[in-house]
Amino acid sequence: MPHPQWQNELQNGIQNIEDLARLNISKEEISIMTNVAKTYKVRVPQYFLNLIEWENPNDPIRKQVLPSEKELVSNAFELEDPIGDQKHSPVERLTHRYQDRVLLFPTYQCSTYCRFCFRKNFLRDNSQVFSRKAMDEALLYVKEHTEIQEVILSGGDPLMLKNEELEYIYQRLKKIEHIRMIRIHTRMLATLPQRVTSDLISAITGKLMVCLVTHINHPQEITSETAAVCQSLRQAGFMMLNQCVILRGVNDQVDTLHTLMRELVYRLGVKPYYLHHCDLARGTGHFRTRIDETQNLIKQLRGYLSGLCQPTYVLDIPGGYGKIPIGPDYVQDHNEQSWMFASYKGEACSYREIVM
Ligand code: SF4
Repeated sequence: MPHPQWQNELQNGIQNIEDLARLNISKEEISIMTNVAKTYKVRVPQYFLNLIEWENPNDPIRKQVLPSEKELVSNAFELEDPIGDQKHSPVERLTHRYQDRVLLFPTYQCSTYCRFCFRKNFLRDNSQVFSRKAMDEALLYVKEHTEIQEVILSGGDPLMLKNEELEYIYQRLKKIEHIRMIRIHTRMLATLPQRVTSDLISAITGKLMVCLVTHINHPQEITSETAAVCQSLRQAGFMMLNQCVILRGVNDQVDTLHTLMRELVYRLGVKPYYLHHCDLARGTGHFRTRIDETQNLIKQLRGYLSGLCQPTYVLDIPGGYGKIPIGPDYVQDHNEQSWMFASYKGEACSYREIVM
């Protein structure tokens, strides 16, 4: 039987260090990338490579997916596990940080290894693939903890699983009475939208609510292929959100964020959910923006874009303390009777509190 198109795209792309030599770039660049790829894995599907404008040295997709020597530079405060996944992991492949939801890691493989990834230090091991034994143990934990209502499939990229493996997880979760939603975090609607087939949709459709959270960082990642699969997923009844990461030199421009948020909402029908501050993962410092600079960018979204287009800017506090919103503060002062605010244009304005 011929391979599905998405598997061909993977096979024809960059799959390992040796494939880097096929790129139409200088030998010196290939040598640097080869050296970095000995520490951090590299993989890019042909489809995503085709979206790179090779004549542009600052191409936003190229920066996100091709290794840079800057990844080998780190700071003593950067961490292997910046958001504390392991600290809150009672059983293998599961993190229980917040009371009513858990993260499940069915695989640590991805279609594309993003150079800024906060889990890049976990993704080095090729043997960390789907394991029914590990899933059964994690699912037993979910069953025994009735406070859990939502299970988030993360990784790695859960859409790297076979349809049967995803269906297995879906069917098991469907039988647990206290589970009300499955959330799937995937980068593949940008990197390899061909992965979304009617068979995949059937494997994870049923009585359980499914929320698909895409990861799209730049408008250049949005194509007619992505738009078509988003439409199929919406028509099949999936809730659709996007999370992105603010990345220096990739999307830290007002115009880029305006276009990205509008394209997500108006073209894809996907609600911007989180804009993540780039976590303190080792080897990602060159992507990190300053918090105050990013707050200034966020100020230029509120009031200028529809409320539907506003993501929440968040920081995952190192050590596993969870996310906090770190967007700009519009409250300037308050006392028992009145509040002073700054409008989206920066004008000072007051509000008198009247409670009968
Ligand atoms: S697809 Fe997600 S988990 Fe995989 S490298 Fe990219 S950001 Fe990390």
